[in-house]
Amino acid sequence: MTDRYHRSEAAFAASKARLPGGVNSPVRALGSVGGVPFFAAFGKGPWITDIDGNRYVDYILSYGPHVLGHAHPAIVAAITDAATRGTAFGAPTEAETALAERVRALVPSMERMRFVSSGTEATMSAIRVARGFTGRDLVIKFDGCYHGHADGLLVRAGSGGLTFGNPDSAGVTAGAARDTLVADYNDLGDVERLMTAHPGAVACVILEPVVGNMGLVAPVPGFLEGLRTLCDRHGALLIFDEVMTGFRVHVGGAQALYGVKPDLTCLGKVIGGGLPVGAYGGRGEIMARIAPEGPVYQAGTLSGNPISMAAGIAALDELTKPGVFDRAVASTRTITAGLEAAAHEVGLEVKAPSVGTMFTPFFGPFAQGRAPRCLREVQATDIPRFKRWFHELRDRGVNVPPSNYEAWFVSTEHDAEAIRVTLDAAKAAFAAVAS
Ligand SMILES: *Cc1c(COP(=O)(O)O)cnc(C)c1O
Repeated sequence: MTDRYHRSEAAFAASKARLPGGVNSPVRALGSVGGVPFFAAFGKGPWITDIDGNRYVDYILSYGPHVLGHAHPAIVAAITDAATRGTAFGAPTEAETALAERVRALVPSMERMRFVSSGTEATMSAIRVARGFTGRDLVIKFDGCYHGHADGLLVRAGSGGLTFGNPDSAGVTAGAARDTLVADYNDLGDVERLMTAHPGAVACVILEPVVGNMGLVAPVPGFLEGLRTLCDRHGALLIFDEVMTGFRVHVGGAQALYGVKPDLTCLGKVIGGGLPVGAYGGRGEIMARIAPEGPVYQAGTLSGNPISMAAGIAALDELTKPGVFDRAVASTRTITAGLEAAAHEVGLEVKAPSVGTMFTPFFGPFAQGRAPRCLREVQATDIPRFKRWFHELRDRGVNVPPSNYEAWFVSTEHDAEAIRVTLDAAKAAFAAVAS
């Protein structure tokens, strides 16, 4: 296989000289599975082609945004059209309200919102407004949930149950970590203990209502409802980080799927149609605290720029046409069932839990014979086997996340041909890692 990635090897050597790790976001360097990343040349629908001319069925989809596949004609047209009229003005445009109206229609809890340029900005700003609104400092997050790279969110669990978090990156101060408390996902008791230990001090609980960033982990029945109750009882805000799940697990996000209403919601990825957009929003009285209406400062030179807004509007309009989103959900079910069956045929136990258009295949052993419910249970699965399987898949033309702690994404364009190629490759790849 050495020749297969020949040009990518040269491109990687050149990029490493100028960019740390040769990349602009660490996961792209394949650090956890080893090997050389392919350099992308172009994409169309569910397919991506690298600079060596290899073609892949893509389950990364830029880590989530391309729910309509690569280079969807409606999005390309919207971007092209907007670009001819100017790319940013430092003045408001009607496109911002137009996208906000669409978001509000799909996610009614977002009565008012603000657009930013990344998911990181959305979560960072939502937490600031939660603190400004409640007058409290502490944030509760969950072990294994990712909310972007802001200091106070790059924090992992401390050693004791009720301790403050530890920095999860060099350069994060102990002070930033001290304001973040870390609980186990799907463990309401853990959250209750933290709330009780810090009475009147918790500003908000932030979580991925379906986790994608430890691999796909769904909330157990009652978990989201229980968090809603605990937050109400203790006067804390509930923030759903739906940067990944928004327009992905359901067109209305996880809050529509599970019927639990957060105070604030963060969006990103799909909302930009493949361009850099994030959003945060929620109850009107909370959002009224943001400058210039209120004292919580947050701003952005290119926030709400007309090209990004046009791409987002086109994406949401396309996705909400009758039958379009459901098609991607149906394909996801076909793929996950096919993967589990193919693994079974060669004597491997694989579970591929999915919600909407997201899933992750895990290799057993499984705690109590079921799919993982928290980070510790993900860590107990056979991750070394996943790493071998990754290479077997990629060399057979299936592009999947280079870590078992990631979700796989399906688009509306993953058709019968793409699925057939995927399952054929997966069967051979399972056989190759069965022993
Ligand atoms: C990707 C992601 C983020 C960060 O978004 P960026 O656009 O990469 O800054 C935040 N939260 C969740 C749940 C994500 O999946």
